[in-house]
Amino acid sequence: MGGRLQLGPVPLLEKMQKTLPIVIAHRGASGYLPEHTLEGTIMAYAMGADFIEPDLVLTRDNIPIILHDIYLEYTTNVQEVFPQKVQSDGHWYAIDLTLSEIKTLSVHERTDEKGQVIYPQRFPVQKGSFTIPTLSEQIERVQGLNTSTGREIGLYPELKEPLFHEKRGYDLGKTVLAVLKQYGYHNKKANLFLQCFEPSVLQKLRFEEKSSLPMIQLLGPNEWNIGPDYEAMLMPSGLKTIAQYADGIGLWLYQIQDERDHYPSYVVNPHIVHDAHQAGLQVHVYTFRKDELPKYAHSFKALLRIFLSEWKVEGVFTDFPDLVVDFRKTHFAREHA
Ligand code: CA
Repeated sequence: MGGRLQLGPVPLLEKMQKTLPIVIAHRGASGYLPEHTLEGTIMAYAMGADFIEPDLVLTRDNIPIILHDIYLEYTTNVQEVFPQKVQSDGHWYAIDLTLSEIKTLSVHERTDEKGQVIYPQRFPVQKGSFTIPTLSEQIERVQGLNTSTGREIGLYPELKEPLFHEKRGYDLGKTVLAVLKQYGYHNKKANLFLQCFEPSVLQKLRFEEKSSLPMIQLLGPNEWNIGPDYEAMLMPSGLKTIAQYADGIGLWLYQIQDERDHYPSYVVNPHIVHDAHQAGLQVHVYTFRKDELPKYAHSFKALLRIFLSEWKVEGVFTDFPDLVVDFRKTHFAREHA
């Protein structure tokens, strides 16, 4: 077996990483507490994350709330509370409920279509009493803690399914932008990254709404059928186009290294990190979970070593912010002392 010389990151990248990689608390400290709760936000904050990630959808009365899906049934008890609100496709949509209705729901660990828990080792599904927060409520917690601790922790909001919202007559991007502005996030110095899978939405916010907020273009495999041709966007010419409106890309980790084969064939896009840096884009990678490791990583630390020390990406989304903060302390302390 050869080394990593041919397919690993090119030496030029070593010069690119001038600052510490950022730790993005994916849906809060979601490895420990139900995703997208204020409890998870505060835990992630205390664990030393640099950014907290809220996924955002709108309520019927146009309030941005923190929820991963446009549906409510995977993380709440909506079936029991509002059985009559189910749509003909079997889903309960957040946009069909007002904020006051949504506030009566209780949030639990994520389950699938059949009600099975996704991560059985995490917070027990029937326990605790959690509710869906609004974006404002989360910002006020984070900004309040920034004042009381003297730290500067940022937000990393994701606009969820903006085209779905548009079809229902709502403008998710503009609505979120207005709330962010109200809390002082309004220019390129904001301690925030706005992320979205839909390029046309980020372009509109950048060019038509004239927003200068830091933005991240999320990318995924075309097989997910989200809409855009991500494979074309990953080409050097596609990355140059992204750099016209965004500051970085958010990549699925299996787009860099796949789990289906052994080294070196698991390196699926050997040039992507380098190409993105060449285009002036940061690379943030999702999602690092100690209870969902790719086959090529024998431990969570090994996985972090591959992406942070070898690929040298600028940030990782993780359900376990404490573990990434610890890794960063031990592996980057000397270099950045
Ligand atoms: Ca997200």
